[in-house]
Amino acid sequence: MTVQQLKRRPLSRYLKDFKHAQTHCAHCHKLLDRITLVRQGEIVNKIAIAQLDTLMDEAAWEEERQAWVALCRFCGDLHCKEQSNYFDIIGFKQYLFEQTDMSHGTIREYVVRLRRLGAHLSQKQVPQELAKQGDIDARLEMWLPLTSTNNYRIALRKYAQYLAQKSFPPAHKPVVQPACDIY
Ligand SMILES: [Zn+2]
Repeated sequence: MTVQQLKRRPLSRYLKDFKHAQTHCAHCHKLLDRITLVRQGEIVNKIAIAQLDTLMDEAAWEEERQAWVALCRFCGDLHCKEQSNYFDIIGFKQYLFEQTDMSHGTIREYVVRLRRLGAHLSQKQVPQELAKQGDIDARLEMWLPLTSTNNYRIALRKYAQYLAQKSFPPAHKPVVQPACDIY
């Protein structure tokens, strides 16, 4: 065996280098500011990473590395925390990124509203079927929260557009709506 093969370092060291080498979020491709490391769909925080002391050589790390991605905080929360029973939030976010020219901030705003709405509906024990059929905005109208109602209505309407295009994908990119239509 050569010296090279024998050289082993703790996993935490590899991960530290890995983290520093990441510049963009693996999901939304945003420039990374605060990095969330995720292993097979689970967020691994700094403290947990520091405790990963398994010794590995380069080859073992190469294999282990496939399981890790670096995400921005927003995508980390979205992909790894509890999912809404009412809305396909990940699909919705993907739609906003790919089919509209909205800014990251605007997309985030829509996603946050829809997540809050999902939590509200769940608290009120609204039947989930109401969010699965057509005319979702009309069906859920009477269940909207009493504060910021219009904001929720707008997010819901945008989500309805996403559902509609999922059933009938456009051949071309649709006319882009101005980012300010959120208000
Ligand atoms: Zn991201």
